[in-house]
Amino acid sequence: MATLLRYKDRVVVVTGGASGIGLGAVKTFVENGSKVVFCDIQDNEGKSIESSLNAQGPGECKFVVCDVSKEDQVKHMISTAVETYGKLDCLVNNAGAHPPHKPIDDFSSEEFRRLYEINVLGFFNASKFALPHLRKTQGNIINNGSLVAYIGQPGAVTYAATKGAIISMTRALAIDEAKYNVRVNSFSPGNIFTPLWEKAALDSPDYDKCIQTGKDAQLLGRFGTVEECGLVCLFLAADATFCTGININVSGGAELDYGYKN
Ligand code: NAD
Repeated sequence: MATLLRYKDRVVVVTGGASGIGLGAVKTFVENGSKVVFCDIQDNEGKSIESSLNAQGPGECKFVVCDVSKEDQVKHMISTAVETYGKLDCLVNNAGAHPPHKPIDDFSSEEFRRLYEINVLGFFNASKFALPHLRKTQGNIINNGSLVAYIGQPGAVTYAATKGAIISMTRALAIDEAKYNVRVNSFSPGNIFTPLWEKAALDSPDYDKCIQTGKDAQLLGRFGTVEECGLVCLFLAADATFCTGININVSGGAELDYGYKN
């Protein structure tokens, strides 16, 4: 039986694609026939993922080292995508950082500024340089937000602020770009087990307790997977053609859990 390639020959850029949710998106698009350019600051990981995914197909990918907070690097990365594959259909803004949990008293403004540069300015930079190309293909942008933007989290004041900004930016950009038939949407993960999440658990005083709490936060009682996030990206890019300015929670119902879990 032939495999259905749901985004065949579409050109997709994924930021922060060398790990976790970004890598899940890169794999999903390559498995669905897309041509993916992914960037990251992790050079070695990026190169090795590029060769292993190209060996698997059916789509293909190219890795570009790029810090999304640096305007000139992002400009170069987007140009590379268009020069390599001839067009751009979809941008997945994903690259992000998550500082350790602590009260506002312990955050410096410099720490917050750097987080904002990655989590918000990084999304702005990639969107700005991608949009002239996305307007030509009536393409779309997918922003990785977080459930934290909606429900908060203890000790996450700066992270929550950056993720709230992403959700607001999604809506405002959806309004501006509708006249070009460019769609702009977001998805907001709950707890997805990635290297970022694992590091937080390793840094916590009790690893096992932290993992259990992470699972229990979800109504479905488990972590989400990067593949599940990748499939939501594919849905937003390939199928959700009358959706713009929306957010999809990929959170196992965490936002509905007022202690109803069995
Ligand atoms: P991860 O650490 O596994 O992956 C993040 C990737 O982004 C890494 O490869 C990292 O090198 C890259 N990156 C970091 N700074 C960068 C920069 N300046 N330029 C380019 N690349 C950069 O983490 P993850 O859990 O996959 O997180 C990805 C996104 O998902 C983040 O935006 C995060 O806020 C969001 N998110 C994650 C969860 C979760 O539970 N894991 C929940 C909600 C939201």
